[in-house]
Amino acid sequence: MLSVLDLFRIGIGPSSSHTVGPIRIGKRFVDSLIRENLFDQTTRIEVQLRGSLAFTGIGHATPKATLFGLMGMEPETLNPDTADASSDRVYSDKVLELGGHKTIRFDPETDLLFDYETETTLHPNEMFLQAFDQGGKVLRWQIYFSTGGGFIASQEQLEKPLEDDIVQIGGKVPFPFTSAAELLEFCRVEDKEIHQVIYENEDSMRPRAETDAALDRIAEVMMACIKRGLNTEGVLPGGLKVKRRAPGIWQKLHGSPLSNEREQLFDWLNVYAMAVNEENANGGQIVTAPTNGAAGILPSVLKHYCCGDRENAANIRKFLLTAGGIGILYKQRASISGAEMGCQGEVGVACSMAGGGLAAVWGGTPEQVASAAEIGMEHNLGLTCDPVGGLVQIPCIERNAIGAVKAANAARLALHAPSQMKVSLDQVIETMRQTGLDMSSKYKETSQGGLAVNVVEC
Ligand code: SF4
Repeated sequence: MLSVLDLFRIGIGPSSSHTVGPIRIGKRFVDSLIRENLFDQTTRIEVQLRGSLAFTGIGHATPKATLFGLMGMEPETLNPDTADASSDRVYSDKVLELGGHKTIRFDPETDLLFDYETETTLHPNEMFLQAFDQGGKVLRWQIYFSTGGGFIASQEQLEKPLEDDIVQIGGKVPFPFTSAAELLEFCRVEDKEIHQVIYENEDSMRPRAETDAALDRIAEVMMACIKRGLNTEGVLPGGLKVKRRAPGIWQKLHGSPLSNEREQLFDWLNVYAMAVNEENANGGQIVTAPTNGAAGILPSVLKHYCCGDRENAANIRKFLLTAGGIGILYKQRASISGAEMGCQGEVGVACSMAGGGLAAVWGGTPEQVASAAEIGMEHNLGLTCDPVGGLVQIPCIERNAIGAVKAANAARLALHAPSQMKVSLDQVIETMRQTGLDMSSKYKETSQGGLAVNVVEC
């Protein structure tokens, strides 16, 4: 069983698989050198980015993220401003503070390579890292994969995932569900809501107070991100010259009479989601929900519908636990990686999670919550990943706004639905998985098809 805290990770933009994952991989490799007493002999490191990490790595800031990891930084704690200065120094001075402990020569031109040729077989986000001694002998090499949402795995772990999963948790959980049907059955037999089942699973991993503090911190970072996005004007980095739109919409909303609801119906959800994704595109601090590219949907719904009354803390935790439980199902039964599933695996999953979380906050039964999650995915099936210029901007920013509105609609539809719906959550998750496998790699975070080839970069 995964924890909801594995899904909601604090990190930096613009991508959980291409930024957060590579940071963790870089650090993990250096930690392995220290652990195996190879660190002192290491005088050179070479990294090869393969598959989707090569094709869209530049737009997704993968080289910089890799350097952060090699310098010993961690996504949860690094300060984007000072970290950027450190990576800039690597490019200008051609030296790297390995693990933050010693300086080695490092020229990104020759030591950080984009390998477009090697076919990736286990997962499309592959990194090959090597450490050399003074004489050029390979001290250690390792292949890692960034498997989406900031999760990483070594080659060995992907080859035998059932025996050696990357995610380490404490003792056994009381409700070890592997499908939505099992989760709903636990709810029925125990007479519990979904968030209560998830809570008790989390209790077996850490004290309740720690879970609550972590959930509150996640919500705090999400809200801070919205606030920064609403108040920061300018043009996003990367060369597409995409102007930040959230501040302008926000100002218009505040200039309009609050009673103007017919026009404003979705503006609030749109503006909150866009604020987050513009911050993400700018490399700001983000919570993966469940990925960075789709990080605007849950905060938007959370802020608009769950943060305005006296039940604040309880509603926020209920929303995150329920949404997290749904996200665990996708992670366990399919994937949340755009490189594996296309955008249905990112924005689709976030929409499904947010729809379910909102239905729970609105008092839905576990079955209605599962229906909301099902609807949230059903109408994102087949959604491709085709970011223009390899940047997490077009279509990603608007797509989160659309996803937030769709999530609210999914929750409404589910609450009005008959008790037994035709399509189950398990069926739609399996359909997403099969659709993702059938999808051409052109539409899976390679920027080789779709909008990426039809929109002129200028
Ligand atoms: S198109 Fe979707 S999956 Fe692809 S980078 Fe953008 S948000 Fe992520």
